[in-house]
Amino acid sequence: MNFCSNCGKAVALKIPPGDNRMRFCCDFCGAIHYQNPRLVVGTLPAWDDLVLLCRRAIEPRHGFWTLPAGFLENDETTAEGAARETIEEAGARIELGPMFTMFDVVHVQQVHVFYRARLLDLEFKPGIESLEVRMFSEADIPWRDIAFRTVSQTLEHYFSDRSRGVFELHTGNIGYSPRTVLPQAERLLAP
Ligand SMILES: [Zn+2]
Repeated sequence: MNFCSNCGKAVALKIPPGDNRMRFCCDFCGAIHYQNPRLVVGTLPAWDDLVLLCRRAIEPRHGFWTLPAGFLENDETTAEGAARETIEEAGARIELGPMFTMFDVVHVQQVHVFYRARLLDLEFKPGIESLEVRMFSEADIPWRDIAFRTVSQTLEHYFSDRSRGVFELHTGNIGYSPRTVLPQAERLLAP
């Protein structure tokens, strides 16, 4: 960030009074521009023993397969956002199920949340961000061409839970060592 989105003057990176992290601060209007992780929401749409995947028409990971997902918008719930992305990217009508996976993806400042979903019919069609939308059996999943690790792990949890006959909420993180945050957290807890 170079310029204040409030007044247009240059911003400086510094720790504001009473804070403990570097923020983009505007000395002209006093605005502090906090930057926080973004939420990516999506679904795992299923039909009998098949699951729906989209082949990405956009970067990053153009041409790779993914579950329908995208950034949560203001003024919608995570469930609404997941259903909206499923319509936009796959043209698929679904009945939304429970939240199924949630991953911290700290290195890109994101949190990914996937809901299970049941396809209401097979009348799907690719939206503008998808090259192709297809149903896959577990044996056909193109594991080496899956776009993101949160997607491959969501699929792995799904097939594992399905084989056990019990679906649970799974949480985890991608490529993150909790030790890196402990000194900061300990400072916050110190009297
Ligand atoms: Zn400003």
